[in-house]
Amino acid sequence: MTEFKIAVIPGDGIGVEVMEEALKVLSVLEEHEQNFVLHKENFEWSSDYYLEHGRMMPEDGLVTLQSYNAILFGAIGDARVPDDITIWELIMPIRKQFQQYVNFRPVKSLPGITSPLSNGDDIDFVIFRENAEGEYSNSGGRMFESQQSEMAIQNTIMTTAGIERIVKAACEYAEKNGKKKVTSATKSNAIIHSMKLWDEHVKRIVKNEYQNLILESIYIDALVAYFVQRPQSFEVVVASNLFGDILSDLGSGIVGGLGLSPSANINPEKQFPSMFEPVHGSAPDIAGKGIANPIAQIWSAALMLDHLGREDLSTKIINAIELVLLEGKIKTADIGGNATTAQMGSAISAKIIEQY
Ligand code: ATP
Ligand code: MG
Repeated sequence: MTEFKIAVIPGDGIGVEVMEEALKVLSVLEEHEQNFVLHKENFEWSSDYYLEHGRMMPEDGLVTLQSYNAILFGAIGDARVPDDITIWELIMPIRKQFQQYVNFRPVKSLPGITSPLSNGDDIDFVIFRENAEGEYSNSGGRMFESQQSEMAIQNTIMTTAGIERIVKAACEYAEKNGKKKVTSATKSNAIIHSMKLWDEHVKRIVKNEYQNLILESIYIDALVAYFVQRPQSFEVVVASNLFGDILSDLGSGIVGGLGLSPSANINPEKQFPSMFEPVHGSAPDIAGKGIANPIAQIWSAALMLDHLGREDLSTKIINAIELVLLEGKIKTADIGGNATTAQMGSAISAKIIEQY
């Protein structure tokens, strides 16, 4: 019997809508798979919660989450609440407290989806974004003399331990999955303290511990151009928090958009729960219309099952997504159709049932 405790945080906007479809798909698996049970608990920690309670989650929110095997997250963001509150009071504390230092984002061509760059060759790589330190720090501040004369200092924090663990996670993944090359994003010609440290350690780790892998270090400005010109040439990309964030959205764009892009915030040691969420946000422009694409959220649930040791079920979900896209009858607006969120969720569920 495999049983898991899953904390479900739908969040705001389309987060709530696409989560419903991910839960639909998970229930279908539970119904058809013997001895597989998910104990799902819903947490309504959203911008509405903030407006009512003055905080994004209860004081003991992190303690509560710690007893779960995984967190399935929708999206957060609302015009009535400043972005730095939704991010720094909910997403960041979860990532940091649970040492989810790997942000894993697959970038993969899908059947029936015309990428702006498709030339017939499949794009299939993964991004390992450092998720716990780096440029996204709250260290720094502003010095105020007058409205006309202000200064801001924003510190980047990089440590040997922090670099080592993300690079090793990327290399381990490469070795396990038969990949030959790891590409490191850098800018050590201009950011001469933190990025030099990054470069030195990436080089040392690959040279000493992963002799079978080829290391390619590319300046971020050139790398974004290569993402567009030759995305098929990448296998595993490892990057700092900021560079990884930007590359992930670019990666999503080159294979068909945010509606299709999942992500995983992973604590590889499994000492704490990992969190699975789509790359996209709450999309206020389409929220409430029932037209958001739930694939990114459903695929994030697949990454969750993979992390929990049920690669078989994860594969069933991804197969179902690919079958629906290949057929091309059910497509949401972002990928050129007019199906609803619920129709897409049901079509994927049906393709899962066909696999039993
Ligand atoms: P946030 O601040 O919450 O990240 P955002 O405005 O930066 O929000 P997203 O919410 O990611 O960005 O949306 C960016 C664009 O992509 C929007 O136009 C949105 O409608 C579209 N989009 C995002 N996710 C989806 C989806 N699942 N299905 C269809 N369109 C989507
Ligand atoms: Mg966004």
